[in-house]
Amino acid sequence: MRTRKLLAACAGLLLALSAAACGKEGSPPVKGPKADQLPVYQVDKDFRLPDSRTWRNAKKRGYLRVGAKEDQPYLGEKDPATGVYSGFDIEIARMMSASLGFDPKTIRFKTIASANRETALQNGQIDYYVGTYTINDMRKKLVGFAGPYYMAGQGLLVRTDEDDIHGPQDLAGKTVCSAAGSTPYQRIAADYPKAKLVAYDTYSICVDNLLTFQVDVVTTDDAILLGFAAKAPDEMKVVGKPFSEEPYGIGVPRSDNALRFALDDALEANEKNGNWKKAFEATLGLSGAPAPKPPPIDRYPAN
Ligand code: GLU
Repeated sequence: MRTRKLLAACAGLLLALSAAACGKEGSPPVKGPKADQLPVYQVDKDFRLPDSRTWRNAKKRGYLRVGAKEDQPYLGEKDPATGVYSGFDIEIARMMSASLGFDPKTIRFKTIASANRETALQNGQIDYYVGTYTINDMRKKLVGFAGPYYMAGQGLLVRTDEDDIHGPQDLAGKTVCSAAGSTPYQRIAADYPKAKLVAYDTYSICVDNLLTFQVDVVTTDDAILLGFAAKAPDEMKVVGKPFSEEPYGIGVPRSDNALRFALDDALEANEKNGNWKKAFEATLGLSGAPAPKPPPIDRYPAN
C-alpha cells in the first residue's frame, strides 16, 4: 500500500516538476510561484555595452539566450505545456535582461544540466547562465561569475519515514544520489567515501529514485531540496543543517569582463530597488527556503 502511494506520488511529482500539480488531478499548484506578484522589470532602452562581445552579438541577434534548469521547483521550472520557465533563477535572468536593454519576454531559455554549463558558456551556446550555479575557484578557471545573488548550503533529502539519517556523518553504506558535475556530488566523493554515491544528469531523476526506493538520500543545495520537499511534503523531508556554502553566481564567458561587471551592477541595482526581495518572495520564498539578505557582490578583478 505504502509503495503504491509512493509510486503515485512519484508519477504526480514528475508532472509537478514542470506542470502545476503533484496532488489530485486538476488541483492548483502547491504554493506558487505567484506570477501576479512578480516584479515588472523596467527595460533600460538606452543601455550600451560595446566592450562586451556577448552583448554586441545579442544586440545584432535581437534577443538573449540564457541557460537555466527546468526541473528545480521554485528555482527553474519549465511548464511542458507552454514551454514557459519560472522560478527565482528565472527572475534573476529576467531582471538582468532588462538591465542589459533586452525585453525579458524575448529571452530564449535553454535547459543545461550541471555537468554541461562550462562547455555551453565556452562554446557560446548561451550568453549567460542562471541555475543554482555555485561560484568556486575551479570553475572560475573556465567561466566568469557575476554575483553572488544567493547563498545556499548542501543538505540531505530523505523519505519521511527515514529515521537514521540526520547529517552527512550518517551516510556510510547508504546510497546517495546527486547530479554529475555538481559541487555536492564532489563533496560526498571527497569527504564521505563510505557513502555509495550515484550520479544522474538532474536532481529530479534522483528524487524519482528516492521515491521508488532505488536510493536512500538525495543530496544537493538546501534551496533545491526544500523545493522538492515542499511539492510532496508527505513523502520527503530535508534533514540536518546545511554543511557547505554554495554562493550562486551568474555564469558568463570567462573573457567577457565587461558583461560580468555590468551584471554585478544590475544585481546591485535590483537588490537596492526591491526587485530581488519581491522576486524571492514570489518564488523560492514559498518553499520555506531561508530569506537572507543577498550576499555581497564579489567584484573580482578582470580576467
Ligand atoms: N550549486 C551546486 C553546483 O553548482 C549544486 C546545484 C547544481 O548542480 O546546479 O554544483
